[in-house]
Amino acid sequence: MQGMKLRINAARLLADIEALAQIGGTPDGGVSRPALSPADLEGRAWFRGRAEGDGFEWRQDGAGNLSAVLRASDPSAPTLLAGSHLDTVPDGGRFDGALGVLAALEALRTLREAGVRLPVHLEAIAFTDEEGHVLGLLGSRALTGQITPEDLERPRGGRAALADGMQRLGLTREGILAARRRPESLAGYVELHIEQGRRLEDAGIDIGVVTAIVGIRSCWLRFVGQAAHAGTTPMPDRADALLGAADFATRARALVMARFAPGVVNCGQVCVAPGAFNIVPGEARLALEFRHGADADLDAMESALLALAAESAQRYRLKLEVEPGERCAPALMHESVTAAIEGAAAELGLSHTRLLSFAGHDAQVMSAVTPTAMLFVPSQGGMSHNPREFTTPGDVVNGANVLLHTLLKLAF
Ligand SMILES: [Zn+2]
Repeated sequence: MQGMKLRINAARLLADIEALAQIGGTPDGGVSRPALSPADLEGRAWFRGRAEGDGFEWRQDGAGNLSAVLRASDPSAPTLLAGSHLDTVPDGGRFDGALGVLAALEALRTLREAGVRLPVHLEAIAFTDEEGHVLGLLGSRALTGQITPEDLERPRGGRAALADGMQRLGLTREGILAARRRPESLAGYVELHIEQGRRLEDAGIDIGVVTAIVGIRSCWLRFVGQAAHAGTTPMPDRADALLGAADFATRARALVMARFAPGVVNCGQVCVAPGAFNIVPGEARLALEFRHGADADLDAMESALLALAAESAQRYRLKLEVEPGERCAPALMHESVTAAIEGAAAELGLSHTRLLSFAGHDAQVMSAVTPTAMLFVPSQGGMSHNPREFTTPGDVVNGANVLLHTLLKLAF
């Protein structure tokens, strides 16, 4: 194996993270660089300056994805991608996204300095608008051909915000739709990210190897009883719809914890009708969402939760109606890439464990077209999307070294 002893330059990577955190930096040590905002443009320009200053070939595609490229000698070689995103949520932290991009650039620098000749082109990529300030996963969806003209008509941040941002960045509709790359031209995608949870920290484990980004299913549960006078209707005679919904919500938590861990369930909204102090609720409509890493788990959760809802309805003499909601399929990471991450971590003497990602990432989009996986490093207190987000320098450097050696394993 070529370059087993290679290590990234820790001081250089940490200095890059510090420098980038000043752009859009907030007084409390956080960062505000929403996608396509002036601060995001400044961050992007900084990244370009850094990559070009280091002498890398620079590339910006029609969707505004930014890449530093280390070329293989064979021009027809496929491209191995590593990266993440430079945009942040408003008042976010300095590691979410930035870590994956800067560690990828540092891996390129390390390989070039060591004179390692790779049989693939290696690209450190920053995807546009991961956080969804204007569209959501815009860059990776465009690169993989998963954006339609209709998507550009109804972006989640509103049409005006998208139009403004595109103009600021010099993007066009045609350019975004033409940013797709042929899957055959890609050799894979690896993303280093902070965990944004406490599992690694609590277990004292260095590296999380993501096996899937969870799928999401949702529906509305309508518990229907009988609206009635809140004073004159005797308690035993009531068909109180809210009680069915409340019974379900508390038992759903227990059910998922007992039978579907690490899956999660949420009852995020309840609308009670008619909705007055003096009327027993005749109807309760509850927004149910649940997440897990595989379709089979989601199927099993769905039937168990619906059976439970029927039971809760019956207990309070209610009828139950189910209206289907949105679904997002789980994104499975590729075994060849997860195995490379595990091998790299083991060779570096770092502890590792397999886990699910409960947050969305560009990797879920990339996994549709090319072998993809993610690795996580611990987040102190699980804090993220918050100025207090923190990952120790040691964990940053561990993650970057695992990324470097994962790329080496995948390249050869
Ligand atoms: Zn992120």
